Amino acid sequence: MADGASPAAEAAELGRRGWNAEGGGPGGPGPVVDSTNLAWFDRASRVIPGGVDSPVRSFASVGGTPFTAVRGEGPWVYDVEGARYLDLVQSYGAVLLGHAHPHVVEAVTRAVSAGSSFGMPTPGEVLLAEAMCERVPGCEQVRFVSSGTEAAMSAVRLARGATGRARVVKFDGCYHGHSDVLLAGGGSGVAMLGLPGSAGVPAAAVADTLVVPYNRVPELGDDVACVVVEPVAANMNLVPPAPGFLEGLRAACDASGALLVFDEVITGFRLGPGGATARSGVTPDLWCFGKVIGGGMPIGALGGPRDLMAVLAPLGPVYQAGTLSGNPVATAAGLAVLELVSARHYEELEARAGSFAVSLAAAVTDGGLQAATGSVGPLVGLFVGPPGPPVELPSDYEGARVLATNGVYARLFHAMLRRGVALAPGPYEVLFPGFAHGDRELARAVQVAADAAAEVASGLG
Ligand SMILES: *Cc1c(COP(=O)(O)O)cnc(C)c1O
Repeated sequence: MADGASPAAEAAELGRRGWNAEGGGPGGPGPVVDSTNLAWFDRASRVIPGGVDSPVRSFASVGGTPFTAVRGEGPWVYDVEGARYLDLVQSYGAVLLGHAHPHVVEAVTRAVSAGSSFGMPTPGEVLLAEAMCERVPGCEQVRFVSSGTEAAMSAVRLARGATGRARVVKFDGCYHGHSDVLLAGGGSGVAMLGLPGSAGVPAAAVADTLVVPYNRVPELGDDVACVVVEPVAANMNLVPPAPGFLEGLRAACDASGALLVFDEVITGFRLGPGGATARSGVTPDLWCFGKVIGGGMPIGALGGPRDLMAVLAPLGPVYQAGTLSGNPVATAAGLAVLELVSARHYEELEARAGSFAVSLAAAVTDGGLQAATGSVGPLVGLFVGPPGPPVELPSDYEGARVLATNGVYARLFHAMLRRGVALAPGPYEVLFPGFAHGDRELARAVQVAADAAAEVASGLG
């Protein structure tokens, strides 16, 4: 990227390179499979439980049948029928640069041609670890794993091993993956299905998990190994930390000897190069990363200061391992992303997402529904309600749940999907406008939201 061009133009260019904003892109809609979404979903349901490999993808909470994606390009996704959607899901935040960004495709292609896995140290994991530690203040080392779930699970084991304590404190509505210990009170798909946790998790597995309300600093006993938190909650829709909340957690942990774990699987390298850590100025003891750092490939990472990370095997007594950990293809993809974006690109993206959030709320209310949106960095939360009293932004899971269960989101979701804009099929997810979404695409989403809201409001009126 040439220095000297305006940051705005450059940031837009980041996402545009390689795809055509008018749609189609090079070669048109691509490898459209000659079949229907319904046929594929029927087939999927025969060999895959519920037809999906992650419950958030099901349409359980909005009704209907998921479309089957065959191709993505920047902010667009195409289904097997050749329909094109403006995609605000963006693999739940894993693809910061949009789908099939040429820079990422090239890095992945180069890496995979050199061998997809060795079970030996590779330069790629070193380069990505260096890039991450350079960007996140206080994070001196990372250990790669293959998912955010593993990162959070390993962070808990490390915290327990390092402190010799058992208890884990987490916040209602925060999601840290699907490990037994952390699933209790999870947001996202668990919340969407109305599950308190999961069957198959014995009481003993969660006996040491304490779930407390977000945005209130809990009292910590001397048996607490760690406090795990999403520093910006993005799995109960978007709930930012109240002023003083993260600072309060830091102080409470320091007083009790518990470790503070920031789960930055969504916020890391999305809110800015230094994630929620740099943004809040609060430094945790351990970090969990995932999503953005794999550029759309499976990855996760656990991070911390050198002395604490030395508790991990082979240096220390806490065992943790993985055949595909630090995978050269995934680390190449992640590095390609981190290297391409700089602080000012993030600032530009944040400004664009912020004005999108404001316009989106205005569009939905102009259409006749009630709505409130919030944004932190490029993360956008959208809460909707029926015609009537205004929607207030919630500060915890209880507030988020009341809005998520009013039934309006499912209608708006379908009305927008019919008009070619894909939101996540559940009310607990955030919107992920990224570097691929230019002003033109976001304006289109806003227009569609207004039309969709009008349709929904007239049906409810
Ligand atoms: C997605 C997510 C996870 C789990 O990551 P996976 O790669 O899906 O296992 C953990 N924590 C947070 C905050 C997440 O958003």
